Amino acid sequence: MSTGTAHASKALQDELNPFLSMAKGFDTAADLLGLDGGIRDVLRMPDREMTVNVPVQMDDGRVKVFTGYRVQHNTLRGPAKGGIRFDREVNIDEVRALAAWMTWKCSVVNVPFGGGKGGVICDPREMSRSELERLTRAYTVAIMDILGPDRDVPAPDMNTNEQTMAWIMDTYSMHARRTTTAVVTGKPLNIGGSKGRREATGRGVMICSNEALKMAGLRPEDTRVVVQGAGNVGGLGALLMYREGYRIVSISDMYGFVYNPKGLDVPAVMAHLGSKKRLEGYAEADYQAAQPGPSPQLELDCELLVPAATENQITSLNAERIKARVIIEGANGPTTGVASDILDGRGIICVPDILANAGGVTVSYFEWVQDRMGYFWTEEIVNSRLEQIMVQSFSAVRATAERYGVSLRTGAYILSIDRVASVYRMRGISS
Ligand code: NAD
Repeated sequence: MSTGTAHASKALQDELNPFLSMAKGFDTAADLLGLDGGIRDVLRMPDREMTVNVPVQMDDGRVKVFTGYRVQHNTLRGPAKGGIRFDREVNIDEVRALAAWMTWKCSVVNVPFGGGKGGVICDPREMSRSELERLTRAYTVAIMDILGPDRDVPAPDMNTNEQTMAWIMDTYSMHARRTTTAVVTGKPLNIGGSKGRREATGRGVMICSNEALKMAGLRPEDTRVVVQGAGNVGGLGALLMYREGYRIVSISDMYGFVYNPKGLDVPAVMAHLGSKKRLEGYAEADYQAAQPGPSPQLELDCELLVPAATENQITSLNAERIKARVIIEGANGPTTGVASDILDGRGIICVPDILANAGGVTVSYFEWVQDRMGYFWTEEIVNSRLEQIMVQSFSAVRATAERYGVSLRTGAYILSIDRVASVYRMRGISS
């Protein structure tokens, strides 16, 4: 390998490191805020990182050890809050970055939580339901000492769901000797879940799209949308946007994407996905299977692009070729720091993840409040309070960005870091 190539691949490796990406956004905002060295260090570093190795008995009798993490980035504004992901690609840098993003996200929407995140290295597709249950319970027991409604409140993330949250709630409650619903959010409705939680992240994505369209001078009915990811965020977001009048021209899952320039019948696409478990084979659209490297789906003709699958999808390798005028980051960290600069330079409006997908944590906050009150709200109340918070937060981010003459991403970081830093200054250091 030539030195040039070695440099290029090291630069790309750094670009794709989610913690460095988060730190780049943080440092830009911290410089503009004139944050001094001490506070900067406190807010940049995670408060606590836990690594656990948990033995699980598999269905064939073998014992397998799984490595898991829980990172609490910051708890100045309240208990740590953040999802748990089960995936082969889970690593500590990723969990660290996601935990920090949660601190900034909770602060952007001004809910009284800090940031946390967890993950277990495993391939859930190759595990049975009972193996997943045993893994979830073993991981919960291993991190139990740092969990709790006032300490750290997990939620679902990639490859975890309402059932996973029910197992965590039950395991925690059995050890605590009392039913403690507020220890996790994203639970099933009949055990303390909130109405509207399942669609909340997608709904937040749609609300941000509506607001961003006003900035771009577009209307939903004139807006062609490409959605990457057909899960909780992308799939439900696409459905809500379709009902709002947007023209969804493409949607993908990890195996490939469907495309119809005239617009997809999203309920039919989702029904196909629900029954066949893949988008492939949906008759009313072209299908292209996934290839290694940047996805051509992201470069399709459209006004609005919603990356809602996973991180590092828009990078220096494809940012120049993106055609959308507006990007709404449904996933966490879908755009690298380098790509973000390229998109800014091209005048593309990018609503950053810490705002765009904050609908989920906002309704998680509602769920936690309802669990602690023991009093549950109607779906209309949940949705209208969510809308109010998302619209207010969007407007606060936009105003901050305009005041500093920066992108929405940097505006969101400035707003959220400033809020956490001001709490830090007021509380001082306890010793
Ligand atoms: P999910 O597991 O429900 O869905 C993920 C979807 O993306 C699936 O359709 C999967 O097939 C697809 N996918 C995965 N890798 C892909 C790839 N490389 N190309 C195209 N499609 C791919 O997960 P989710 O809950 O929808 O989460 C998606 C993203 O949103 C993650 O970054 C997550 O951290 C973030 N997020 C989720 C929530 C939430 O409430 N679920 C809240 C905030 C942020």
